[in-house]
Amino acid sequence: MQKSELADIINLLNTPRKILITTHTNPDGDAIGSSLAMYGYLKKKNHTVSIMVPDPDPEFLDWMPFHSSIMVFRDKQELCLAAIENAEVIFCLDYNGLGRLSNAEEPVRKAKAPKILIDHHRDPAPDFNYMLSRIETSSTCELLYDFIAACGDTDLIDPDIAACIYTGIITDTGSFSYSCNYEKTYMITADLYRKGIDGEHIHRLVYDTYSEGRLRLLGYSISEKLVVLHEFHTAYIYLSEEDLDRFNYQIGDTEDVVNYALSVAGINLAALFSERDDIVRVSLRSKGNFSVNDIARKYFNGGGHVNAAGANSYKSLEETVRIFVEMLPDYKEKLTSVY
Ligand code: 5GP
Ligand code: MN
Repeated sequence: MQKSELADIINLLNTPRKILITTHTNPDGDAIGSSLAMYGYLKKKNHTVSIMVPDPDPEFLDWMPFHSSIMVFRDKQELCLAAIENAEVIFCLDYNGLGRLSNAEEPVRKAKAPKILIDHHRDPAPDFNYMLSRIETSSTCELLYDFIAACGDTDLIDPDIAACIYTGIITDTGSFSYSCNYEKTYMITADLYRKGIDGEHIHRLVYDTYSEGRLRLLGYSISEKLVVLHEFHTAYIYLSEEDLDRFNYQIGDTEDVVNYALSVAGINLAALFSERDDIVRVSLRSKGNFSVNDIARKYFNGGGHVNAAGANSYKSLEETVRIFVEMLPDYKEKLTSVY
């Protein structure tokens, strides 16, 4: 973002505005964390703020500050449409194109308010009036901290806002295990501690809240549904709707499952295929320089980051897995020489 653009935004936010915060479908810790942190910040600046997400977020984020302010487009369409129409400014957090808004895409596209993107995904679409887009950043939450700092407002970051930012950083870095090879991430985290977060407590709230079904689904996924293809340094897990029903699947229950497939020694590419309603969710993870963003784009019309990407497949579970397995020989050399 150019200095002049930032000056424009600061100017825009100088008087109280009606502001709508939006984030992507299947929202994760960074999507929700950045939206709630922005909400807390803008409220402190005396704006009228609402948050819209296309569909519900996982239950393990329910504890978050300001969480009750979230409006789900799928469930509260009229309220959301009014907020979109009345907005004077729209923030677009943790996604790189309006296509990621699912059913809310068209109304947001038509909205007259300027759209400000803050995001760390590759190749942002030309859908926004202003863009703070940096792919080498751990999380949108980290960028949000930068944004608040650039506005000269770090003093306004209180323990609640800090907890939201911290949650996005830990969930997007797997608790500081990937996308976190930059000093700045730790400098910001240190400042969040200074602002009064309890990191251990937040970690427990985010990670130690498995239902019995979720834990058993994880065990079943690993023992019964994991396929390891050592020749291609690849492992994948596939779950049918029946599998999910058997363990009383709730939104968010398969988050992290793919990481176990990647944790096998020698495995550089991992995938989770999970069947729900009419689609198959594809979650891809990789180590080092092997880009799953490219695979998600090329084969499944999705996207994401170098080491974490996702997509929806509209083919059957079997067909989706077949497409994945059949492309592996083309990548054998790359998968063997990951650094
Ligand atoms: P996950 O596997 O956790 O659902 O997604 C991993 C990453 O890929 C996230 O950063 C997410 O934003 C991105 N991603 C997931 N699904 C899609 C998709 O359908 N399209 C695009 N462009 N990105 C996705
Ligand atoms: Mn993110």
